[in-house]
Amino acid sequence: MRTPSASNPLLHWDPAAADPAQRRIHPILRGAVLDRDGWICEYCGGEATEVDHVDPRARGGATTPANLVAVCRSCNKAKGFRTPGEWRRDEALERLLARSRGRRARRRPRAAPSRS
Ligand SMILES: [Zn+2]
Repeated sequence: MRTPSASNPLLHWDPAAADPAQRRIHPILRGAVLDRDGWICEYCGGEATEVDHVDPRARGGATTPANLVAVCRSCNKAKGFRTPGEWRRDEALERLLARSRGRRARRRPRAAPSRS
């Protein structure tokens, strides 16, 4: 993995900084990413107001333009510390389980199988 160089302070992110502001994406970089993506959420197409690390920074994702996308607040919260692939996988699993639960609820327990 490439370590972000210190060439541009906008790309610098210090997870150990005492000041929380230094742990966030630089406002100028954040604005540039939102402009680049047209303030459209990468994940749902809604209005983006935040910037997300595609590879979560908690797991080593770099604060670089290539790893940042514009997202809406709800997608950013829902995604959390997952990669988009892991997020989609978990969502698909949750949808499957919800459908399964819904079918079981509609069916009377212990009823004889009756397929018409
Ligand atoms: Zn969204």
